[in-house]
Amino acid sequence: MPNSLVAIYPGSFDPPTNGHLDLIARAANLVNHLIVAVLQNTQKNALFTTAERAEMLKEITAHLPNVEIDSFDGLLVDYAARRNANAILRGIRNVSDYEIETQMAILNRRMRAQTETLFLPASAEHSFLSSRMVKEIITLGGDASGFVPEPVMRRLQAKFTTVKR
Ligand code: ADP
Repeated sequence: MPNSLVAIYPGSFDPPTNGHLDLIARAANLVNHLIVAVLQNTQKNALFTTAERAEMLKEITAHLPNVEIDSFDGLLVDYAARRNANAILRGIRNVSDYEIETQMAILNRRMRAQTETLFLPASAEHSFLSSRMVKEIITLGGDASGFVPEPVMRRLQAKFTTVKR
């Protein structure tokens, strides 16, 4: 029986939303140490760089002492092994999340049995919310301030003003 639960919460976080922050805060209450890990991908439609996403996550989780922000590339299970993590955390908003996440969880467990995937259901008020929707609202000139933490909103506004110029 492990006496310490170290969980990795991996994701794109482009940008981090209120839904992500809610999941982080709830998970931080359950585990000893939570590593929020930004996936370093070369997504063509990415809005923020990996470093920018990590900076925003640091700002919005500064009040949570057992939360660490990191980034990784390559296989998640290899990263989990490097970090001695015994859990992967994922949020489930709906049936499509469940389908894809179950598949990933089974694959990851086949590759590394020591790391179990834990699912937390999204809070009702955030279950409709995704980074993609936030990007769409902002790109179309809408107000996304109800969907992202304040420091993220500031960065979105700065980015959008720069893009428009
Ligand atoms: P990915 O590209 O890995 O899906 P995301 O940043 O979109 O990265 O999501 C990372 C994790 O956060 C996923 O487990 C996703 O289901 C979860 N998540 C995303 N939005 C929400 C939300 N509004 N509430 C709860 N969990 C969420």
